[in-house]
Amino acid sequence: MEFPSSRLKMVKEQLITRGIKDQRVLTAMRKIPRHLFVPEALRSKAYGDHPLPIGEGQTISQPYMVAFMVETLELKGTERVLEIGTGSGYQTAVLAELSEKVYSIERIKTLALKARELIEGLGYINILMRIADGSYGWSEDAPFDRIIISAASPTIPEPLLSQLKDKGIMIVPLGTETSQTLVKVIKDGERKRVITLSPCFFVKMIGQHGWKN
Ligand code: SAH
Repeated sequence: MEFPSSRLKMVKEQLITRGIKDQRVLTAMRKIPRHLFVPEALRSKAYGDHPLPIGEGQTISQPYMVAFMVETLELKGTERVLEIGTGSGYQTAVLAELSEKVYSIERIKTLALKARELIEGLGYINILMRIADGSYGWSEDAPFDRIIISAASPTIPEPLLSQLKDKGIMIVPLGTETSQTLVKVIKDGERKRVITLSPCFFVKMIGQHGWKN
């Protein structure tokens, strides 16, 4: 089953209308079958303007939030991207369309395995996945051009900042379960520029350099 018309409508009404301009992001989100990444019983809601539960108390992000975060990464196609919080794998697929290689970490095994199966089924060969506490990063393959964190952290996780290339961009929701701000971090030598983007709502990043369980 395909949902091309609901996907086109989603891109037009939820993304373009709200100011998403990067044509590569729009093209990727017109292409990727988001309905496959949500539980079967929720498929009819897959292109709605909201997050949806994916099991284990986690959610697939709202389409606009994925588009906004990914656009903020300013991807040209040559980057190596680290993603923390694979979840459903939907955003992972978007990133794979827009960059050279994606390294994605998920701490919950059942979600990671489901995401891997989907991603392999769709034929992506530029995604590496790992089940681990992503707040430590992926040191063997660091540094990364871009880092995207899809779960809220109390602070900018130090290991992740150190695994970001100079001039690289990280996007991370900072805050508690109930109050969060999405920030863009640009590494500048030993320093960093932190740009506040918008309020947001994510599940918590649970881990050594995130929230303790
Ligand atoms: N972009 C994903 C969002 C998933 S929700 C999507 O659209 O599907 C965030 C995910 O982060 C959850 O699956 C949660 O289990 C995961 N997560 C939380 N803390 C983590 C950590 N320390 N390391 C890796 N994944 C983590």
